[in-house]
Amino acid sequence: MATKEDFYKLLGVERNASDAEIKKSYRSKAMKFHPDRNADNPEAAEVKFKQIKEAYEVLSDPKKRSAYDQFGHAGVNPSMGGGGRSGGFSSDGFSDIFGDIFGGGRQQRGSSSQRGSDLRHSLDITLEEAVAGVEKKIRIPVLVTCGECNGSGAKKGSTPIICPTCHGHGQVRIQQGFFSVQQTCPTCRGTGKLIKDPCGKCHGQGRVQEIKTLSAKIPAGVDTGDRIRLTGEGEAGERGGPSGDLYIDIQVTPHPIFTRDGANLYCEVPISFITACLGDDIEVPTLDGKVLLKIPAETQTGKSFRLRGKGVKQVRGGPVGDLLCKIQIETPVNLTKDQKAIIEKLGESLTSGGTHHSPQESSWVDRVKNFFDL
Ligand SMILES: [Zn+2]
Ligand SMILES: [Zn+2]
Repeated sequence: MATKEDFYKLLGVERNASDAEIKKSYRSKAMKFHPDRNADNPEAAEVKFKQIKEAYEVLSDPKKRSAYDQFGHAGVNPSMGGGGRSGGFSSDGFSDIFGDIFGGGRQQRGSSSQRGSDLRHSLDITLEEAVAGVEKKIRIPVLVTCGECNGSGAKKGSTPIICPTCHGHGQVRIQQGFFSVQQTCPTCRGTGKLIKDPCGKCHGQGRVQEIKTLSAKIPAGVDTGDRIRLTGEGEAGERGGPSGDLYIDIQVTPHPIFTRDGANLYCEVPISFITACLGDDIEVPTLDGKVLLKIPAETQTGKSFRLRGKGVKQVRGGPVGDLLCKIQIETPVNLTKDQKAIIEKLGESLTSGGTHHSPQESSWVDRVKNFFDL
């Protein structure tokens, strides 16, 4: 176990795979590498099985998955899983693994409710909204508890009956190889109940799909890649179980003037070469309106001026950033004959008299000379 395999590769899914895709792939891989099904090489299968389980434990948990996406294996608890050598499955670990696969692990005996899935929603906001914070209406398709049957799945007036196979326990014991394994009841799929007369609206599922409109408060200072959790706004749980959470992935759209890097904002400010020569006060934009920026005489192109505190206050705290204005000196275009004559005259004046007027040029010429002399 020197180097760890990529969790997404282990499960054979894309990095943007949905929770459902991850779950589905995990189930099929876990079945494939189950040591009981790999009698010819059970030890290799066991290692693989544990790796797959570890990958699933991380990728099925939005918090851990996000940490893994950002920081890789270092982002998730290093003490977790790890395969390695062990003397085969203990009976405890075994039923634990099975429970996870069949969804019975978290359930209590006789209890049939299950937490709803978490949902992800990607939200585009402008830079101004990201900096100031905003309240956004979000429309997402979600599974909600069926109003007709209150989530029971049984037709109004009828109630589900106790499952005859498992007598309401939701679990049955089966013999597999040397082990006696507790497994989810195939008749009622773990619910312990059977619906004889299903609800017409949800067809016995207890949940229906709806477009839910939510109001999401986006805090000031968020940036692309930030994720906001709305607790309990995911899919409704099955048979009265708690709802999952909704995760909103923030995406800030490009701004026509500013670019952002953490707390700082950057912009390019074009000025005339007259302003660059003689200096002037010019107006520059900030997110809270225009401010005056003093351009000193003899400013060179590419020079950046820092406007303190005109950047962003980040959502995780820290000082407010700065706005850095990078000067671009513009060469005048569409010159008339007279204007060209004046510039020619200026050029003559600048080259006569022996005073240096081009601080970059002379050292650049030297460097070019040295380059060719080598
Ligand atoms: Zn219903
Ligand atoms: Zn049953």
